Amino acid sequence: MLDIRDLTAAYGPVTALDGVSFTAPEGKITAVLGANGAGKTSLLRTISGLLRPTKGTAYLADQDLSRVPVERMSRLGLAHVPEGRGVITELTVEENLRLGRLGRADRAKPTDLERIYTLFPKLADRRHKTAHVLSGGERQMLVIGRALLATPKVLLLDEPSLGLAPRIVAQIFDLLKSLVESDGLTIVLVEQNARSALSIADYGAVLNLGKLVVHDDAAVLAADDTLRHAYLGF
Ligand code: ATP
Repeated sequence: MLDIRDLTAAYGPVTALDGVSFTAPEGKITAVLGANGAGKTSLLRTISGLLRPTKGTAYLADQDLSRVPVERMSRLGLAHVPEGRGVITELTVEENLRLGRLGRADRAKPTDLERIYTLFPKLADRRHKTAHVLSGGERQMLVIGRALLATPKVLLLDEPSLGLAPRIVAQIFDLLKSLVESDGLTIVLVEQNARSALSIADYGAVLNLGKLVVHDDAAVLAADDTLRHAYLGF
């Protein structure tokens, strides 16, 4: 579904991604792992057009994404939830969610607000409150909900667990797993928290200094002691 081919990107003289290739299959979760500075965020930014590749590309169902303007990505079915969340705290929860509809994929049946409120009951309780009342976990749920309102085929998530209590992380990861199972959503999940990410992922890609070290079944990566100690920190 999302085919990453020789993807290479730089910030001026700093190479952030160096010839990365792997496929994130449809209806599966692919975890992207590696230490700080490995290139995980740059990978997502390059896929979604925020950073232009200097070489290589990513294909979304045969569409060459390096030729697509960033504002058209969501119409093609690509949603990117960056690190740091992007909740607009002056707007209500519902107003924040409605922003997600602006980029809805063409012809797709819109995911409606009620579905999001069913998935995230805490957002339903606070729908008319300004978003600044939300906890960190609820803000993460809000930005995931907002991305889902655009009816994506592929969801890129950057560090959704950052700063959240383990119980909330488990709740969010369970929800991601159920979305993949119920909707056939394809997820690329960037995580520092490698152990938790591999527990829900089908596949894992490990980056180091901008290069792909290994791509394999998540269970194979989780069972590889040498790899875990060298790159995954658990
Ligand atoms: P982290 O978990 O710390 O976000 P990461 O694996 O996501 O790490 P990237 O943020 O993609 O890694 O960084 C890859 C490389 O690109 C690093 O060497 C980093 O210093 C560099 N880099 C990232 N953003 C910029 C930027 N805006 N300007 C210059 N260099 C950058």
